Amino acid sequence: TAAPTLPSVPVSEALFERAQKVIPGGVNSPVRAFKSVGGTPRFIARADGPRLTDADGKQYLDYIGSWGPMILGHNHPAVREAVAAALQDGTSFGAPNEREVLLAELVTRITGVDKVRFVSSGTEATMSALRLARGFTGRSDAARKYTLKFRGNYHGHADALLVEAGSGLMTNADQLGQAAPSSAGVPPEYASLTLVADYNDPAGLDTIMRERGHEIAAVIFEPVVGNAGVLIPSADFVAALNRVRESGALLVADEVMTGFRLSLRGASGLLGLKPDLYCWGKIIGGGLPVGAYGGRTEIMDFVSPVGPVYQAGTLSGNPLAMAAGLATLGELERDPEIYQRLERYTAALGSGLRDLAGQAGLPLTVNQIGSMLTAFFLEGEVRDYGQAARADTAAFGKWFQALLSGGVYWAPSQFESIFVSAAHTPTDLDFTLSAAQHAFAQL
Ligand code: PMP
Repeated sequence: TAAPTLPSVPVSEALFERAQKVIPGGVNSPVRAFKSVGGTPRFIARADGPRLTDADGKQYLDYIGSWGPMILGHNHPAVREAVAAALQDGTSFGAPNEREVLLAELVTRITGVDKVRFVSSGTEATMSALRLARGFTGRSDAARKYTLKFRGNYHGHADALLVEAGSGLMTNADQLGQAAPSSAGVPPEYASLTLVADYNDPAGLDTIMRERGHEIAAVIFEPVVGNAGVLIPSADFVAALNRVRESGALLVADEVMTGFRLSLRGASGLLGLKPDLYCWGKIIGGGLPVGAYGGRTEIMDFVSPVGPVYQAGTLSGNPLAMAAGLATLGELERDPEIYQRLERYTAALGSGLRDLAGQAGLPLTVNQIGSMLTAFFLEGEVRDYGQAARADTAAFGKWFQALLSGGVYWAPSQFESIFVSAAHTPTDLDFTLSAAQHAFAQL
């Protein structure tokens, strides 16, 4: 079949030209540049409900949801009005304000942690939680300076975490130990404090905890992975994670993507995980820049100014951001049926894609849980990064372009989750599946 004709988007093209002159790669976060799928990134002019409108006036059904925050859909009236009301009172004080107390009360009530500290991104949340874990476990044991993470899990871009970090950052590494940094500019000395294990390998996790558990301050993990494409943990792996604490290390759940998405109590609540610390981002800020970390009082009171672990932020607890988070979590708490609906719709999308790929004679493995889904262009199960990495990324790229031409904005990388929002309707899903059918036919 003929190659799809790429639609012309002259305004986005012109903006991209200008952007590349003044912003590295023309983007402020790499995957937005469409590097792995080709074509011109769309400059988005506005977003409403499940739809994006680009600078050329073209509309797309959106499955990125700003990479996670927009679980209610874009421009939700409750969120817009809360932010507009907060705006009347000024944009930032650098002093305590009532909205951060309200959001902390809401988050602790929903998640069961005793205390929470707000920051401005997921990166800050994980970076700060790990410093806290080292400070807390190190109070009696200075040898505990290592972090254990899993291949293909992404925890933001703090130096020591840019190791085997998923989403196109993968490099080779050896077993149970020294892993290479995923980025230039990270000295091997930093990376050497990060140990790496395979996701969904309970025996491997048990082994590394037995051999090196006495040196490990924290085991950080994505409770459902989104950053290698969607990977779902087995019950045995969940049990092994829950055993981590027996070695004296803290279990740190990176729920930046899954928190308030897979259930009100995140992936941990859904899967029976028992972390010591949680990291949040994305939904907790309702589309404004917020991250957070939280846990038991005993641990959280190690944070400055009550404890010796320093962590601060000029815009932390920003009143506009707190207002957006309050409105978003408030809507989710008011209507917990949202989660059942998201699961139903996303499962239907997944089975529709499987059927269509089957009819087209193309191998496709769909991993889906709640509103998270990845369609891997490969045959066989995908339970860890190694299996995900077998995907036919060229086929994915063509499929992505065809979808985009058909008015569906899928995540522009094979190794990402897409997100269904509460604003997507059955009609939207039908539209998506017919665009997908057309896209499969072009491969
Ligand atoms: N952890 C996870 C699981 C994430 O998915 C992300 C971002 N995609 C981060 C941390 C980093 O968050 P941020 O981009 O807000 O720094």
